Amino acid sequence: MIHENQKGSVVVAGLGPGRDDWICPSVQKAIDQATDVVGYGPYVSRVPAREGLTLHATDNRVELERARHALEMAASGHRVVVVSSGDPGVFAMASALFEALEEGEPLWRSLDVEILPGVTAMLAAAARLGAPLGHDFCAINLSDNLKPFSLIEKRVSLSVEADFAMAFYNPRSKARPHQFEKILDLLKTQTKGDRLISFARAVSTAQEHIKTVPLSEATPDMADMRTVVIVGSSLTRQISGTDFVYTPRSTPHLAEVE
Ligand code: SAH
Repeated sequence: MIHENQKGSVVVAGLGPGRDDWICPSVQKAIDQATDVVGYGPYVSRVPAREGLTLHATDNRVELERARHALEMAASGHRVVVVSSGDPGVFAMASALFEALEEGEPLWRSLDVEILPGVTAMLAAAARLGAPLGHDFCAINLSDNLKPFSLIEKRVSLSVEADFAMAFYNPRSKARPHQFEKILDLLKTQTKGDRLISFARAVSTAQEHIKTVPLSEATPDMADMRTVVIVGSSLTRQISGTDFVYTPRSTPHLAEVE
């Protein structure tokens, strides 16, 4: 029930990578109290319908429109939850919400806005693998929808130089079939090809598939849009006789960076 004078709110919440018991209790609570849930179709479909809750499923690339819609509804007293997969602050809706807030109606700034975290894909994948992100690492979105591809190449290249472990989101899509190949070539050229690379697909869902190979054996078709890719640093290794991949906590002094 929405009352005229009720102060509306927007919660931007992360649903985690897929498993229900990897959803934070605070996110579940916000959904239980919501009047409206907004988000990309497949994420909204993870929220069960109930009386008093309106589900608004939208298309993938309309983040800003979706954020404005959420703020408009909150301004008229609704308790809105915007859902993202994983964590809402990682290549997802939280930034879009703040872009809309900054550009939009001055009144929106007095709404209650809260971001509730979730288990992001790279951490879910890392937990399945062992501890590949156990020391310094970076996360790079390989989609060039919102930035030039040359910047992606530069960031990957400098990350290799700095010997970070790396997590790649949005590695490959039907609309961008060749760019991941370029990134793999760049990695192979800049390293000795013996670093480990893990392809973690649909982590924590029934379709989960995880594979680790040396970089020299990696091929572009090992990744798709449901895959997060983790490239080890020069110290990342697999424990023989197991599937565990981990990065030790320390780097020896004077260790040569590849
Ligand atoms: N906000 C999300 C990321 C959205 S970008 C998060 O924090 O996880 C979408 C990308 O996330 C996908 O292309 C894929 O690289 C990754 N991803 C999301 N869910 C995943 C899952 N269950 N398993 C593996 N990768 C996933």
